Amino acid sequence: MSFESLQLAPPILKALIKCGHETPSPIQREAIPKALSGRDLIASANTGTGKTAAFVLPALQKLFDDPVKKGLRILVLTPTRELADQIAKATSRYGKYMKVHSVAIYGGMPFGDQIRALSQSPEMIIATPGRLIDHIWRGRINLSNVELFVLDEADRMLDMGFIDDVEFVSDAMPQNCQTLLFAATMNPETSKLAQKFMKDPDRVDLAKGGKITHDKIEQRLHITDNLQHKGKILRHLCSDKDLSRAIVFSATKRDADTLARELRSEGFGVAALHGDMTQVIRNRTMDNMRRGKIRILVATDVAARGIDITGVSHVINFDLPRSAEDYVNRIGRTGRASESGIAISLVSHADFPYVERIERYIGQNLTFDVIPGLEPSRALTGAKKSKPFPQKGGKPPFRGPRRRPEGQSSGNRSTRSNFGANK
Ligand code: AMP
Repeated sequence: MSFESLQLAPPILKALIKCGHETPSPIQREAIPKALSGRDLIASANTGTGKTAAFVLPALQKLFDDPVKKGLRILVLTPTRELADQIAKATSRYGKYMKVHSVAIYGGMPFGDQIRALSQSPEMIIATPGRLIDHIWRGRINLSNVELFVLDEADRMLDMGFIDDVEFVSDAMPQNCQTLLFAATMNPETSKLAQKFMKDPDRVDLAKGGKITHDKIEQRLHITDNLQHKGKILRHLCSDKDLSRAIVFSATKRDADTLARELRSEGFGVAALHGDMTQVIRNRTMDNMRRGKIRILVATDVAARGIDITGVSHVINFDLPRSAEDYVNRIGRTGRASESGIAISLVSHADFPYVERIERYIGQNLTFDVIPGLEPSRALTGAKKSKPFPQKGGKPPFRGPRRRPEGQSSGNRSTRSNFGANK
């Protein structure tokens, strides 16, 4: 299928060619015709699948179809500032050959610039909930002409505690407005939101049971004895010449700062990215990463959610996330578009129940890896004896770590053997 067959306007098709997008991704193939039909739509899809274009292209088509209408016509709500920025950038790219006046509105940035931008009557606003509501309350945004309302990463917005804000905005939408809801998973809260505000929605489900497997992402686990051992493994991985660009995830903002500081002092090109940093610094950090001035970003989940940096070769979970959805979101920072990537999780024995939960969620078993000289001191079999995993289908979910054959270095995909693959 081609983009032409999706009946998109010539300037949009021209921009897609310019972006190098040759064929629509599965979510685009499914969601764009449904969105263009004018019906409400619920789409389950993960980031990294091309879902931004799946709603931005129909939005642009709406603007193209009726260029005379005035006022705010498209509103996109998204959970984080980085996502708002990215969607705004994607809108500029895909709308390059149209006159589109869009603006990103999010917290942490000065009000002055946003007030000025809003006074110029943008047709499209991409916003995070809190700051949007602030402007609505102050009468700077009028929602009465909105034709298309997009809830991007709706499940995540609810997870982040934005339920009241999302409901407030959804409630304020005009009666005849079309709503598109995108979520990685349709949990009960998201379904309730959809039931409350959407009219007979069509559906696209490309994230069934979370089983969008990242087949271009090689996923590995390293067992760690303690923090010191974990630190050594991380440094070894960061020194890998195949690691061109990496995102290291830590559990807390403080850990992100500490890790970034330590790695920087050892000569690595590192920066931290978390919610306590000002937006200006966060934007600068992202730019530095995109430009290659920084090789390693140490981030927390919230800050790194959905960020789209091309060429991330490695995602390293310094701390394993407690939620399987977060795991999928994290590893989706690599293997973007048509690239491949490596996702490595450093786990202690106490993390095993979470590993098992992740394996169930993604529908595949993760493979263990060992770096010669940095083997864990405690054998995996011991842990299994002390805490047996529920086993399905007669096959244990884990196999013990095996030593890499002599002479093979860690992180080298071409020479790595398939340790313990149990698929
Ligand atoms: P998203 O899931 O929207 O964050 O998109 C992930 C990445 O895929 C972005 O870098 C997009 O520019 C890219 N992308 C989106 N659609 C396509 C397509 N049809 N062909 C190739 N790359 C795409």
